[in-house]
Parts: sequence; structure tokens; C-alpha cells
Amino acid sequence: MVAHSERFANENETEMRTDSNNDADDVVSYLCNDLDLKGSIDFSQTGPAPKDFGGLFSARPLAFIKPADTDDVAKVVRAALRSSNLTVAARGTGHSINGQTMAERGLVIDMRALEEGMEVIRLGESVYVDVAGGALWGDVLKCCVSGYGLAPRSWTDYLNVTVGGTLSNAGVSGQTFRYGPQISNVKELEVVTGKGETCVCSEVQNSELFFAALGGLGQFGIITRARILLQKAPDMVRWIRVVYAEFEEFCRDAEFLVTRPEGETFDFVEGFAFVNSDDPVQGWPSVSLGSTRFNRAPVPQTAGPVLYCLEVALHYENGDDPSSIDAAASVKLGRMRFCDGLEFQVDVSYPEFLLRVKQAEQEARAAGQWDAPHPWLNLFISNEHIADFDRTVFKEMLKDGVGGPMLVYPMLRSRWDDRTSVVLPEGEIFYLVALLRSSPPYPQGPPVEELVAQNLQIIQCCTQNGFDFKLYLPHYKTQEGWKLHFGNQWSRFKKRKSCFDPMALLAPGQRIFSRNY
Ligand code: FAD
Repeated sequence: MVAHSERFANENETEMRTDSNNDADDVVSYLCNDLDLKGSIDFSQTGPAPKDFGGLFSARPLAFIKPADTDDVAKVVRAALRSSNLTVAARGTGHSINGQTMAERGLVIDMRALEEGMEVIRLGESVYVDVAGGALWGDVLKCCVSGYGLAPRSWTDYLNVTVGGTLSNAGVSGQTFRYGPQISNVKELEVVTGKGETCVCSEVQNSELFFAALGGLGQFGIITRARILLQKAPDMVRWIRVVYAEFEEFCRDAEFLVTRPEGETFDFVEGFAFVNSDDPVQGWPSVSLGSTRFNRAPVPQTAGPVLYCLEVALHYENGDDPSSIDAAASVKLGRMRFCDGLEFQVDVSYPEFLLRVKQAEQEARAAGQWDAPHPWLNLFISNEHIADFDRTVFKEMLKDGVGGPMLVYPMLRSRWDDRTSVVLPEGEIFYLVALLRSSPPYPQGPPVEELVAQNLQIIQCCTQNGFDFKLYLPHYKTQEGWKLHFGNQWSRFKKRKSCFDPMALLAPGQRIFSRNY
């Protein structure tokens, strides 16, 4: 099939032609006439490629390409290799914040075009699902649970993101303390490297590429297929929230829960800080579950401007005796020191639980906030410094909240594989802090520059106080910043780059390396 190509003579094209050199024109002609893609190429600039969820950056690509298969992806990478300056970015759902999926005057590959063909396979004692890199986690859930009663072990909170997108970062949620991030639950990958080669890789085959690509920020290859470990899916979930006035007690219980053996703890452990006020979005009303309303009476008078909520869940089956679920939940809750009377519970199906953020998305869309800028900040902070972080950041800088959730929950380093490209704080227990800012667009909300500046202040505060922390979904403007981020892993990261993407054409939006000429 001949590539379906559309060119629109508009002002963007003129700009592209005058700003870029002849090489780009040659590539356009090459892409249209010689590449023989089975998929399609769009030069119109009207698609989603110049934007992302963050809404802070915009960069126009030369072309937005919908591949029909892995071979098309490899052809695009090889076309860029033949040029003197083209870059290639894989785009999943574009839920990045800082332009990571963009390629200024480069080629953006729409990975959502590669989403079909999920296959559940058994290998020995284990069961896996083979999925395309552009598949949504929500579709993986649907296929595995409704078709087979199975599910991946480790999730993200939000499932409208692609498998390749989260595996290029880590993929964390309330199951991470037990099973590790999503990148700890992958058996095999198919990757198109920056050399245009398609490689199958795993712990035992092309292992350096396998571990490089996991958490690799798209730097070493484009993930076109992943084999993900499955387990039996529960039918139901008891979803529970309990409230703390003291951060110390919140942390003590959270760390206790994530360090207990399976069976002695919950199946899901997350937490968040919220404002001690009646603010509907980020105060007391944001905590209750089901029909129970938040009663402020049990909040101690001594409580500060911010309160804390542990969010936990217990899996069970339809046939289980309800009294045994109540008993199992109350034994676990009985050891915890939350404020008496500030406990909320609801029973939901397992898919409903995993799709819980979808409702927040619908509400944000209805309020016109989903398309507003999202200057989110995600950090991993050692438990040694999390109390200082609470004191200086939550209780001071963020005492009025961020207009959205402020997640804070612990995970264990030993559940992560240090052969992947991710870097973490030292020590066994560290916390995810996710500041999911969701203000209405300016002028109803604060100017986005103010929020970005506050993020920088928070990072500076962590640095100046000597906190052991790393950015999650990291973003730096200079290679110096990246060197500091990777620390003693920088030389490994660089070596992997020269091995798998020697011309540095992949994922230019991460701004780690410049394209080699
Ligand atoms: P994109 O934004 O499209 O891409 C991200 C990066 O990966 C880019 O550099 C891109 O070039 C590269 N890339 C994309 N696809 C591939 C591929 N197939 N192969 C190689 N590189 C590729 N994260 C969590 O860990 N836990 C959460 O609970 C969580 N919740 C979120 C909730 C919301 C509402 C949002 C917006 C984000 C959330 N995230 C969470 C962050 C999310 O996991 C990352 O932003 C992820 O990258 C999004 O996937 P995507 O498909 O949109 O990737």
C-alpha cells in the first residue's frame, strides 16, 4: 500500500520551508514518494503533535506519522538517520508535562496507531499479555479482566496513557510498594532502536537494551510491543480512606503498611495531603467516599493548615462472606492511628476502582480545566527527609494547596530493578510526592508562570536543604541538569545512548542530548 500523504499549503509549511534547509524538503519528498509506508503521514500541523497535557510548551514537527506496524516505525527512524538533522519522537497520548513528546521540525510517530492485537499467553507457570506499545492501559484492563479474569499487577492511577509511555518512565501507583513499578513487571519488549533496528529484548536476550529502554525516557528505542506479567484479577475492592492530623503518624502507618508481608497489609497503599478547610476541590469534601460526608468535628484543634489521608484497598471475591471482609479490614485498620471518626469506606468492582480517575477527568473536562495548562511536579524523596519536606513545603509553601491532589506515599527501593534507566533516592523507603496542579486557566486561576516558579522554588528548597530526592517524569533544560539528575549513573546512560541511538535522534523533547550531525 502506498503511503497516504497529505500536504496543505498553509503558513506553517511556508515557515517550515524557509526556516529549514533543503534537507527537510528532501525528506518530505522521500517520506511521500520512496519510503513506502503502510501507514499515513500528515504534514498539516493540525494534529495533536505540537501539544501535550502540560500545555507549557509547543513545538511543530515536520510530520506526524501514523505507522501501520513496527516495520513502518523502523522505516521512519532509518529515514531520519539518512537525513543530516531530523529527530524522531514517539508520542503516546501526550500526557507529558514539559514537551517530552515533541520534535521541533522532526518526525513525531503516533504510537496510538499501533494499539491492536493483544494476546494472552502462558509460559510455564506464568501468564502474560503481549500488547502494542501504543495500547492504552485502560484497554489492557478491559481485555485481560473481561476476557480472562486476569490483570497486570502494577498500574498507574490514570489508565488513559500508553504502555510505551509509562514504561519509558516507570509507572507507579498504590501497588508499587508490593510489585514494584510497571517497569518491574515486564518480561520482554520489542524495540526499534535509534539505529533503525528492530530488536526483541528481555532479561536474558539483548538485556542491555531491555533495561536501558525501561525508564529510558524514550532515549534508546521506541517500544513497539511489551509482554506484561498477569495475575488473577479480584472481583471487588474495599476502598478505604482514613485521615491524620499529624504527618508523623501518617508516615508511621504508611511505612508500616508498605513493609508488612502480603496478607498482613492492604493490596493498595497511597496517600495525599489536603487543605484543612472546606474548599470543595482540595479540602475536607475531597476526602469522603460514597455517601458519607466529611464531619470536621474529629479534626483536632491543634491541626495545622494541611491534613493527610491514607488511601488503602483490600481485594476480595464475589463469593467471599461480607463479614470476613469487614473483619479483615478492621484488623488492619485497628493497628492504625488515624483520627477517630474520620474513616470512609466504599465497595466497588475492581475495574471501577482502577478507573477511578476517569471520573475526575470528566469533571475537569466539564469545568474546562482539562485543557488548561498543568504545571505538575513529581518527586521521589527519601523517607529520611520527608518530614522536613512536610514542614517546609506542605505546611509552608503549599499550605493553600495546589488546586488539585497532592499525593504523598511511600514505596520500597528493593522492588525496583537498578539495571533499568531510572534513578532513585538512596535508602530503602522513599516517597512519591505528586503536585497535580489543576487550577482554572488564567485569569480565573493564577498565572501559570507563578505556578512554574513555585515548582522551581520547591526544587530549590529540596536542593538547598540537602534532601535526598529525584524528579520523577524528570525535566531539565540543560545537560548539566541531567548529569546531576543521573549522578553516578550518568556515564551508563550516556554509554547506552551511544550504543543504541548514536546519532541522538530519539525523543529530542527530553532535551538530554543534541542530534549528532
Ligand atoms: P507520552 O506523554 O506520549 O510520552 C512520554 C515520553 O515517552 C516521551 O518522551 C515519548 O517520546 C516517550 N514515548 C512514548 N511512547 C513511547 C514508546 N512506545 N516507546 C518509547 N518511548 C515512548 N504516571 C505514573 O507513573 N503514575 C500515575 O499514577 C500517573 N498518573 C497520571 C495521571 C494523569 C492525569 C496524567 C496526565 C499523567 C499521569 N502519569 C502517571 C504520568 C504518565 O504516566 C506519563 O506522563 C506517561 O508518559 C504518559 O504516557 P503517554 O502515553 O501519554 O506518554
